[in-house]
Amino acid sequence: MAGRVTPRSNRAKSPSQARPKSPTKARGGQNPSHGAVPKSQQVPNGRSSGSAKKEVDGQGSKKACSPPARRLRSCASPPRNPEGNTRGRHAKNARKNNKCYSPDGAESPVEKRTEKSPSKSDCVGAPVDKVLQSTLDNLKIKKIEQSNSASIINDVVRKIIKHMRQTDPFRDVEELRTGSYYENVKISEPDEFDVMLAVPVDRAEIQNFDEDGAFYTVALKRGACKNALHDFLQPDGTISADKMLTEFRRKVKQAVRSFSEVVVERKKKGCPAVTLQIKSDGLEIGLDVVLSLKVHTSWPQFTRDGFKIDAWLGTKVKREFKFLPFYLVPKYEGKGNEEREGICAKDAWRISFSHIEKGILKNHGQSKTCCESHGTQCCRKPCLKLLKHLLHLLKQKHPKELSKFCSYLAKTTLLHACSSRVRDSDWELARLSDCFQQLLEDFVGHLRSGELYNFFIPTQNLLGFNCDKKSRDFLAGRIEDEWNNGFPIFRDRSQFT
Ligand SMILES: [Zn+2]
Repeated sequence: MAGRVTPRSNRAKSPSQARPKSPTKARGGQNPSHGAVPKSQQVPNGRSSGSAKKEVDGQGSKKACSPPARRLRSCASPPRNPEGNTRGRHAKNARKNNKCYSPDGAESPVEKRTEKSPSKSDCVGAPVDKVLQSTLDNLKIKKIEQSNSASIINDVVRKIIKHMRQTDPFRDVEELRTGSYYENVKISEPDEFDVMLAVPVDRAEIQNFDEDGAFYTVALKRGACKNALHDFLQPDGTISADKMLTEFRRKVKQAVRSFSEVVVERKKKGCPAVTLQIKSDGLEIGLDVVLSLKVHTSWPQFTRDGFKIDAWLGTKVKREFKFLPFYLVPKYEGKGNEEREGICAKDAWRISFSHIEKGILKNHGQSKTCCESHGTQCCRKPCLKLLKHLLHLLKQKHPKELSKFCSYLAKTTLLHACSSRVRDSDWELARLSDCFQQLLEDFVGHLRSGELYNFFIPTQNLLGFNCDKKSRDFLAGRIEDEWNNGFPIFRDRSQFT
C-alpha cells in the first residue's frame, strides 16, 4: 500500500471485471458492484445465517473459550509465547507447524494450552486486537490524497457528462457515484473510482434473461418515446446493451481527448465500464465509467425474498429503498454471442443495486446515530474493510488460485451478517476481533458450502458459476491459517509494533 499504486491487475476484481468462463450453467455471480440480480423463491442463505445468529444469541458475545467443534480456533488471541506476544519463537513455530487448527475439532497442542488458561481476558486476546486495529489504521486514506484524487476525478467526470449531454441518447444522463470509495470502505490507496452514468428509461419493460434473475432484457413499452434510443433497438424491440455500450465508449473517448494525462483502456469483454487511467501529481488513478439504464418500476420478482433488512434497519427503511429505481448495466458472462430465445448474452443487462448498497452501508445502524460523531461506534465497516483487505492480500499472494474471488463476495457476506446479527450491540467496536472472527466464519462457511447468495436476489449464487470447489477450499484454508496464526499476513505489512 504505502505510497505505491497497486496495479489494476492485482486488485480484487471489480464486478465489472470478473467474468465467468462457461456461459451455460447457472450464471453465478460475479461481482456486482455494479449490479447483479433477481429471482426469488428460496432463502438459500437462511441456513448459514441462521446458524450464525444462533451462535451469537446462544453464547453471548465473548464466546471464545469453549468453541463448538467446527469453529475456527476459538480465541481471538494467536498462540503466545511466555512473554505474551505473538511474534516470538513459540508463535513462529506454531505458525510453521500450523498446529493450532484442526478442522475436525481434534485438539491441537496449542488449543490444549488455551483451554488450560481459562482467563477470559486472556482469551479475548489483545495482540490480535492490536494487529487488527493497526491494520485498519494503516488502511485509512490520508485526507490529502483523498482530496487530490477527488478533484482530478471530478474534472474528468464533469467533462464527460457535459459532452454526453450534448446529444441523444445521453442527453438526460445522470451521475451516480458508487463503489467502495463512496461507501467509505475503501482499502489502501484512493486510486480506484467508479462512477455510473445512468440513462433514465421511461416506460421500460424488463424480462429476465436467465433463470437466476441476474440478467434481463429491456424493451420499451408502447407509447414510450423511442427516439433517443432508436439506434439501439433490435427487431424485437429490446435495447441492445452491446450497441449502446459501444456508443457510450465512443462518447467517453471523445470527451477525454483533451486530457493528455488520461488514457482509455482497451475494451474488456463483458465489462460494463470504460476504464480510464489518469496520471496526475505522481498518482495513477483508475476510473471506471459505467453505463447504466435507470428503470423506475417495481423491483423484479426475483428480488422478492431478498434484501432482508426488516429486522435490521426496519420495514420503513426497506420500503423507502424499494421505492427507489434500480439500474441495469451492460454486463454479461460467458460468450457474448450465446443466444437465448434469439437474444445474445451481450445484449442483455445485469441488474445493479450498488446505490442501495451504498445507502445501507452509510446508514447501517439500528440506531440512526450509529457511528456518527456523537453516536455509538460500531465495527460493521471496519470488519468489511478487514475482510476485503485480507482477500486482497491473499489474492496478491496467490493470484492464480484466487483470481475468481472478488471483493463483492466480502460485501455480500457482510450484508448477510448484518441482516442476521441485527443489533448495534452485536457489532460494538470494542468487540472488533470477535465480530471479525464471526464474519470470517461466515465467509469460510459460504466457501465450504459453495453457497453465497446475492443479497438482493436470493436465487443467484455468487459462488455457483465459476468458483470451483478446489479454489473455494483453498481460499477457506488460507483464511483459517491466517486466523489461527494471528494474521501473519497483516503483521508482515502493517509495521505492527
Ligand atoms: Zn455504526
